[in-house]
Amino acid sequence: MMEKERFLDANIPDDMAATIRPRTLSDFIGHDSLKQNLSVFVSGARSRGEAMDHVLLYGPPGLGKTTLAHIVANELGTNFRATSAPMLTKQGDLAAILTSLEPMDVLFIDEIHRLPTAIEEVLYSAMEDFKLDIMLGEGPSAKSVRIDLPPFTLVGATTRTGLLSNPLRDRFGIDLRLSFYSPEDLARIIQRSANILGMPIEADGALMLAKSARGTPRIANRLLKRARDFACALNREHIAADTIKTTLFQLHIDECGLDEIDREYMQTIIKHYAGGPVGIENLSAALSEPSDTIEDVIEPYLMQLGFVQRTPRGRVITDAGYQHLGLEK
Ligand code: ADP
Repeated sequence: MMEKERFLDANIPDDMAATIRPRTLSDFIGHDSLKQNLSVFVSGARSRGEAMDHVLLYGPPGLGKTTLAHIVANELGTNFRATSAPMLTKQGDLAAILTSLEPMDVLFIDEIHRLPTAIEEVLYSAMEDFKLDIMLGEGPSAKSVRIDLPPFTLVGATTRTGLLSNPLRDRFGIDLRLSFYSPEDLARIIQRSANILGMPIEADGALMLAKSARGTPRIANRLLKRARDFACALNREHIAADTIKTTLFQLHIDECGLDEIDREYMQTIIKHYAGGPVGIENLSAALSEPSDTIEDVIEPYLMQLGFVQRTPRGRVITDAGYQHLGLEK
C-alpha cells in the first residue's frame, strides 16, 4: 500500500496537531475571498439567530476542509460534531447522530461522497426541513415515523464533487472550493506552525519548504516537522535553509515537491504505456494502488503542474512531465 501518511496527521501527536490547526477565520491563512464570504454568512446566521445554511467543502486532501468546518462551528459559537461517511453503514447510525444534535450545531461529514444511497436519502429531509423520516420494523408491520430535528448546519467535505449525487449537492446552500495554496501562503503557514512548535524557521527556508509542499498545508506541516528533527540533530535552535535542503534530499523530495510515488507513477506510464494514454484501472494494477488514491492523492498536483493530462482515452504524460524526469519523448 502506498505511504498515505503524507496526507494524515498521524505522525503529529494529537495535541500538537490540534495546536497547529487554526481555530478562527483570521488564523486561517490564504483563500481570502472564501474567508470573506464565509464570515458574511456566519455573521448573517448569528445575527438572525438561525442555523447557517449547509456548506459543501471540496478539494484535495490536506487543504483545510476539516479545519474550516471546525472554524465555522467556532465562529458560530456552536458545538462541533464530526463523523465520516464510511462510518455510517446503517440509517440508524445517522439517525442517532441527528437526534442527539443541539439547536444550531455544526455536523461535519467527511468523505460525504461515500454515503450509501439509503443513508443519503435520510439526509435529504433532514437538511431541507429538519425532519427525520425513518422506517421502524420490517415487512408488513413496518411503519414510517417522522421526527423533528433541531435546526443544524451540515458541513460536508469531499475530494471530488463529481461523485456527489445531484439531489445531495442541491441541498447545500454554500459551495466552497479549496484549491492548492501558493508558495507564499504556504510559507506563512509554515512560519506560523514553526513558531507554535517553538522552532522558528528562516524566511528563505520557509519558502523553499513551501515550494516542495505540493500546495498542501498538511504536507507543509509534515515537512516542517521533519526539518525540525534535522535541526535538532544538528543542535540548532532555529531552522535554516541548509537544513531544509538536507531534509528534502533525505526524504527524496524534489524541487517541485514530487516524491518517489509521483515519479513511479510517471515512470510507469512512460515505460509501460509509452507515455499514455492509459486507463486508471490498468494504472492502478501496475502500481498496486487503489484507483481512488491515484485520483485523489497523486494526480491532482501532477495535473496542476501540467506534468499529466487526463484525456477521454486515459492519462498522458506531457512534454513538461518528460522534461521534469530528464527523459526524451
Ligand atoms: P482536509 O480536511 O482538507 O484533509 P485539514 O483541515 O485536516 O485538511 O488540514 C490539514 C492540516 O493543515 C490542519 O491540521 C491544519 O493544521 C493545516 N491547515 C490547513 N489549512 C490551513 C490554513 N489555511 N492555514 C493554516 N493551516 C492550515
